[in-house]
Amino acid sequence: MSPSFSVGEQGMVRILLRFSERIVEEPIVSQIVLELKVLINIITAHVNSKGGEVLAEVPDESLDKIIKAFRKRGATVSLPKLIEVDAEKCVCCGACVALCPVEAITIDEDASIIFNKEKCVGSTCGVCVDACPARAIKSVKQNNSEPVANKKH
Ligand code: SF4
Ligand code: SF4
Repeated sequence: MSPSFSVGEQGMVRILLRFSERIVEEPIVSQIVLELKVLINIITAHVNSKGGEVLAEVPDESLDKIIKAFRKRGATVSLPKLIEVDAEKCVCCGACVALCPVEAITIDEDASIIFNKEKCVGSTCGVCVDACPARAIKSVKQNNSEPVANKKH
């Protein structure tokens, strides 16, 4: 059995939000959900009094307006890369399984690996990419990342 191959729901885009110490206490995500009436799924959040980093999934069709709204409020927005596994190259050594911090990769009964795209946090982690001895795992840009990634605010 082959590993599965990518991260991210169909029609959804993953964005990485960074909040400075100045704005981290503000309920910015809630404000934007209410203001734009959009769905924002929080995948991971690391927040303390010095600032915060949030990985979220948002609808592709609302991506531009969501990014503008976050940037208007002072947040930094980028699009993390996604993870892909080449089943032809995978030798099922298990190195990625042991290292994955969120158990996104597991071993099947037949010793092949199972990749859970929902759990994987993409290039914000990327540990498995460097660990794979067969170079079977790589991080790739999201389809629509170019226009967003090039904007600086
Ligand atoms: S990128 Fe990180 S979270 Fe995703 S599968 Fe690899 S080790 Fe796990
Ligand atoms: S580290 Fe690479 S070769 Fe080993 S199981 Fe994971 S994808 Fe396959």
